[in-house]
Amino acid sequence: MEFDSGGFLKPRGPRDWEQQPSAALGRTCPFSPAAADEDVLAAALYPDAPSDPWIGRSRVNYVGAADPTTRGEGSSGGMATWIAAELLRRGEVDGVAHVAPGTGPDARLFAYTVSRTVEEVRSGAKSRYYPIDLRNVLREIRAVPGRYAVVGIPCFIKAVQLARREERVLAERIVATIGLFCGHMKSARLAQSFGRQLGVGDVAAIDYRRKDPARPANWYTAEVHGRGGEVRRQDWWHLAEGDWGAGFFMSPACNWCDDVAAECADVALGDAWLEPYSSDGRGTNVVVVRSAKMAALIAQGMAEGRLELAEVDADFVRRTQAAGFRQRREGLGWRLARRAPGLRPVKRVAADAGIPPRRKAIYATRMAISRWSVRVHRLAPGLYYPWARAVSAVYHALAYSRGWMGKVADRIWPPAAEG
Ligand SMILES: Cc1cc2nc3c(=O)[nH]c(=O)nc-3n(C[C@H](O)[C@H](O)[C@H](O)COP(=O)(O)OP(=O)(O)OC[C@H]3O[C@@H](n4cnc5c(N)ncnc54)[C@H](O)[C@@H]3O)c2cc1C
Repeated sequence: MEFDSGGFLKPRGPRDWEQQPSAALGRTCPFSPAAADEDVLAAALYPDAPSDPWIGRSRVNYVGAADPTTRGEGSSGGMATWIAAELLRRGEVDGVAHVAPGTGPDARLFAYTVSRTVEEVRSGAKSRYYPIDLRNVLREIRAVPGRYAVVGIPCFIKAVQLARREERVLAERIVATIGLFCGHMKSARLAQSFGRQLGVGDVAAIDYRRKDPARPANWYTAEVHGRGGEVRRQDWWHLAEGDWGAGFFMSPACNWCDDVAAECADVALGDAWLEPYSSDGRGTNVVVVRSAKMAALIAQGMAEGRLELAEVDADFVRRTQAAGFRQRREGLGWRLARRAPGLRPVKRVAADAGIPPRRKAIYATRMAISRWSVRVHRLAPGLYYPWARAVSAVYHALAYSRGWMGKVADRIWPPAAEG
């Protein structure tokens, strides 16, 4: 797996290997039309958990957080780290595959690694909006006997579940999956661009979401560390790509994903993007529990007073991800409808071109921003920032009726509900 010119990881190999059809790849690539979909995988994994059309199967859902220390170290409520560390502490797994700052010679800022102690797991906390691949950790899991947990965004967890169907050694050794909700993945260029805007030419490390309990959780602050030792911070909204929903540097594959809530994971964690939780700077998780083992682990943590969680229904979880579900249901249906039937990815969402024109304009603008941000950043770096501010203004006019363009848009089409 190597970076392409847009800062995305792509498989590279000899030409004849690249052109050789592979039935095994067809069965295991999470975006392959020949692979089992999330419904099929989840039905086989969690047959007795009731199914919801938005968040998938779940036994029980919660809102809340881990103990104050773990919560303080995590991006949201720290539940992903708490669960991974608890599995290790109880001896239920020997290693946790998750994403930590890169240490290899390939200059990647982040990489999947296998942590084997609670301290290692804790030091890998936080969300990384940066391309990663599973190659090394799957190799280690195959080579070193033991039981493993894997943390991942939805398409990675789906890939792991498909690989477990294919390879017995993975099925036996990967005994727990911890999913992260996902809106979309970013190119490595996002970190580079944040660095450039903050005067850090050579980025050594980045915290995409520096936590400050005194400020609302949804006011993201990036902290960039340069190789010369300099540290700079800035709120996302002062940065050109600061509106997550505008889709800057989004991976093209994310246009074709219909899974927000990591439906194939034993437990899935997201941010509780609803008030009063969005304003609570300590960070708050929503937790979707699918396997009986995870349900027992979390129930015990609650009984011991180590977790502060309250039960919620599937609709509450859905509402915390309203924008993500619009993009991956209504938006996906519209994107599918624009494709010729023979070239349409096979999805659980039906093609549907009949959505209001304002919504179409929002999805089209987002798609154009994601496609062109990568190209303009690469081909015309001097023009990139003025371009990014101009397209953001168009997006904000369409999505939030902002500025004079927003007034024009409101006159042509009734205002959209939200981005
Ligand atoms: C690309 C991406 C997009 C996301 N989009 C959304 C969204 O739209 N809505 C939403 O509610 N939540 C989203 N999340 C999840 C959210 O950011 C938090 O990760 C989640 O709420 C868990 O928080 P926590 O405090 O429990 O995790 P923490 O305790 O901070 O632990 C996070 C764990 O995940 C691992 N990790 C971090 N990044 C990655 C990665 N890229 N791949 C695999 N493992 C990783 C870390 O190593 C750590 O073990 C996204 C996460 C990512 C990485």
